[in-house]
Amino acid sequence: MPSGRTHDRITLYALPVVAGVAFWQTRSGNITLLVAGGFLFGGLMFGPDLDIYSLQFQRWGFLRWIWLPYQKSLRHRSFLSHGPIIGTMLRVVYLGSILAILAVVGAKLANIAFSWGDLGRSLFLYSGEVFALFLGFELGAMSHSLSDWGGSAYKRFQKQGVQGLLPSGKIKKRKVKSRSRRATGKR
Ligand SMILES: [Zn+2]
Repeated sequence: MPSGRTHDRITLYALPVVAGVAFWQTRSGNITLLVAGGFLFGGLMFGPDLDIYSLQFQRWGFLRWIWLPYQKSLRHRSFLSHGPIIGTMLRVVYLGSILAILAVVGAKLANIAFSWGDLGRSLFLYSGEVFALFLGFELGAMSHSLSDWGGSAYKRFQKQGVQGLLPSGKIKKRKVKSRSRRATGKR
């Protein structure tokens, strides 16, 4: 698994590529900015490693408590944090619910009317922008998960050669492990 610094470097190196492709595909400065901004945010502080005490987690500063329940409920590198789409989706819903609670409480305290209808309407009105931002988050998160998986595949390759890259190699290793565990248990 690459370190947080390596992940950061991958995110920064990939940024011009992501921005370039976004602009090439949309010809829109706004959409490109949203995709690129989402990609940076997703890669640097809104990524899969929020499920552990990581650089991404530390970057939330005094707001990092937000992610403590998330960490408590997810195993590190679980499918729910590192999986494609589902990881970002869950984080968006998670952060969105906390922001919604804060908005409702804040509006009450400040005596401002808060309307779910208005919020829904503007999300719908700007659905293109919302999608661009989500795409950016997802690309940032995926650059992370892909380098995690790539990194551990490379480590297996160094240890076991090509065998380590085959799915059967992994299963065999697991079987051997549980057998030896049982054997030591008997003794
Ligand atoms: Zn990770």
